[in-house]
Amino acid sequence: MIRMYLCITVCLLIFSCKRTVDQVQPTQESDLNTPEYAIVIHGGAGTIVRENMTAEKDSSYRAILNLALDTGEKILESGGSSLDAVEATIHIMEDSPLFNAGKGAVFTHDGKNAHDASIMVGSNQMAGASTGTSNVKHPISLARAIMEKSKHVMMAGIGAESFAAEVGLEQVDPKYFYTERRWNSLQRILQKEEADIKFSADDVDKKHGTVGCVALDKSGTITAGTSTGGMTNKRYDRIGDSPVIGAGTFADNATCGVSATGHGEYFIRYTVARDIAAMMEYGDYTLEEASQIIINKKLLEKGGTGGVVALDKNGNISMPFNTAGMYRGWRKPGESYVGIYKEE
Ligand code: ASP
Repeated sequence: MIRMYLCITVCLLIFSCKRTVDQVQPTQESDLNTPEYAIVIHGGAGTIVRENMTAEKDSSYRAILNLALDTGEKILESGGSSLDAVEATIHIMEDSPLFNAGKGAVFTHDGKNAHDASIMVGSNQMAGASTGTSNVKHPISLARAIMEKSKHVMMAGIGAESFAAEVGLEQVDPKYFYTERRWNSLQRILQKEEADIKFSADDVDKKHGTVGCVALDKSGTITAGTSTGGMTNKRYDRIGDSPVIGAGTFADNATCGVSATGHGEYFIRYTVARDIAAMMEYGDYTLEEASQIIINKKLLEKGGTGGVVALDKNGNISMPFNTAGMYRGWRKPGESYVGIYKEE
């Protein structure tokens, strides 16, 4: 009898603990209304506040986010693969100087651009990643080529660049990646460093502008991809989370796909993308619960800033971030959303 009471008490305790830890209301978590396809993107998280934004800048960001979503949605709508959709969607953001990826990549301490990218397909757990390249126009395509045309998952620097040349990817003069805005941002940081001024939390140079996309296609395959220039003033060939499978990118058809943006070191240490999928796989968490707990509880407590976009096998979408804003958007058949600031 005592044993039975004990057992019931323990069960009740476990159940109530799990619910209080979550403190998150599941939203739109259902498999009854799985859409035919779904796509979600981000263009980086950080100190993005309305007060610092002109109306013009605000609408240019929204225009590119919508163009990227249009591109991916067209592919998914016509029955294309989530892999093609993620690659094409990320190309749009890599070609824009607005985001810290491809054309708009930030500068390293030595005044160069060094791109990182990764991609993963949830049906077979195939993945590809590249780091520290400076002449590949679309780093996300290099990540895809590594996945599809090599035996490896990850390639770096000169090796990755020569592989890109071998498989015929578009290469550009490294000068192509110069933008005045990113150059000035590096100069400001270098000056502050010289004067030994610590960055304040709302520092304009502490914005993360990585781009990412997760898509679910009509066959039920989830693909996730992420592309970045890393962090301004990075040194010693520093590599962030974006090209690290399980940290910045993860996809599994059985659970979800995730693409991250934020302070990469934290996302690597806490294996953020995989952790969200693992909570769904081994725990009883919904996508919304898992991603909110990781970003707005665990990461926040540890001091890691940033966010993720995530999409589960039933087309549920979650976009938590613990910064002032995150460029983000999603599409499902007949539904659409684009947001920048927290309060929208
Ligand atoms: N996560 C990227 C990195 O640490 C930066 C970013 O998201 O902007 O390299």
